[in-house]
Amino acid sequence: MTIALQFLGAARHVTGTKHLLEINDRKVLLDCGLVQGPRRVADEANRNLPIAGKDVDALVLSHAHIDHCGCLPRLVKDGYDGPIWCTEATQTMLRMMLLDSAHIQGQDARHLQKRGHRVEPLYDEHDVERTLRLVRSVPYRQQFEVMKGLRVEFLEAGHILGSAIVVLDVDDGRKQRKIVFTGDHGRKNLPILRDPDRIPECDVLITESTYGDRRHEERGDMMATLAQIVAEELHDGGRIIVPAFAVGRTQTVVLFLGQLIASGHLPRLPIFVDSPMSREATRIMAAHPELFDQETAAMLRAGRHPLFFDGVEYVADVEASKALNAQRTGVILSASGMCESGRVLHHLKQSVGRREDCVLLVGYQAQGTLGRRLLDGEPQVRIYGETYDVRCKVRFMPGFSAHADYGELMEFTGHLAGRCRQAFVVHGDDGPAEAHAARLREHGFADVEVPSKYDRFEVR
Ligand SMILES: [Zn+2]
Repeated sequence: MTIALQFLGAARHVTGTKHLLEINDRKVLLDCGLVQGPRRVADEANRNLPIAGKDVDALVLSHAHIDHCGCLPRLVKDGYDGPIWCTEATQTMLRMMLLDSAHIQGQDARHLQKRGHRVEPLYDEHDVERTLRLVRSVPYRQQFEVMKGLRVEFLEAGHILGSAIVVLDVDDGRKQRKIVFTGDHGRKNLPILRDPDRIPECDVLITESTYGDRRHEERGDMMATLAQIVAEELHDGGRIIVPAFAVGRTQTVVLFLGQLIASGHLPRLPIFVDSPMSREATRIMAAHPELFDQETAAMLRAGRHPLFFDGVEYVADVEASKALNAQRTGVILSASGMCESGRVLHHLKQSVGRREDCVLLVGYQAQGTLGRRLLDGEPQVRIYGETYDVRCKVRFMPGFSAHADYGELMEFTGHLAGRCRQAFVVHGDDGPAEAHAARLREHGFADVEVPSKYDRFEVR
């Protein structure tokens, strides 16, 4: 009789989340995310999954960000045909995210094939459709049986639409243990989504630690900083490029800008959300008002939409996107968030060399990405094989992050100290993960581990 956890991704790293729960001889995978980062490393990891699809009995998905769900079609291609459990909103988001991922991979593969490389995409639209047929969605706060000996409940994580804290009640026939997986843990007091639910008492905690060594700005300070950055650009006569994925942060930045304009702190200025997925993502969000916080619900009741207002333009087609090259002022939000691919590269090509322009980074920038190079102040960067001098301003506002900082993580999990038997710190680079682990120990958590990939632990 055993319960065990094995960490197969996002262990001392932020992408590629895959945690394996073993209950006797059954195996349940928590998330199956895409590894992101330098192409060769990421591709190798995503092609050769650390577990065979046929060896997994069930899959529980915390949310639809691609670093948590992006390898699902690969797992299915590799023989997985069990259920994929997630919340209702995650199910809707999943279709959009996975089809987009398949599309990007197809494009990349064709691009590389033209240059003589023999590359196959990780999966295609057909694999995505097969994957989507396995999805079973469940409402929040409703326990369901995944298999004999495993009941699961989703709580709100406040991270992106549909995101869940996963509560697992495990019984191996001899002992019962409650395991909580935070998924990606959201922030309090950010607009649109409700704040995260309280984490219940548990025996084992698997916690993320993206910002385990950082405090974010409070919301009021963020508004002030954003207003100041935009005012500066208005003064300098330049434009602001905000690299951000279509889901989550993009909507938060748009909402903040809308509030600053509505309150008279900023004049009206053109705002472009340049991503084929952004309108779709924003529409899906608008279709789930039941998941909005009170503030956003009140705005909607008052007839003001926080995401669709005068001055905001959602750009879907490529020609309109190219036309933005001539746009010298205002704000352009475009993916990808770490500047690794997508339309944002075209905007950066125009802007990095211009002193009057500004690149505003609003999310985590992983090692080895173009976003990280800009953040680190490198004087030159390469975009599509060409070298550019960096003359623009580079600003960083990690408070827009949909991840809790260490203070918030402690606030949400501190009450478990002294009660929880084992804690595992995942989804963080070495520095933040170790810092968060040390803080948990200081607070009286008994057995805190920062697992490396493939480490396996018995649940006591
Ligand atoms: Zn996430």
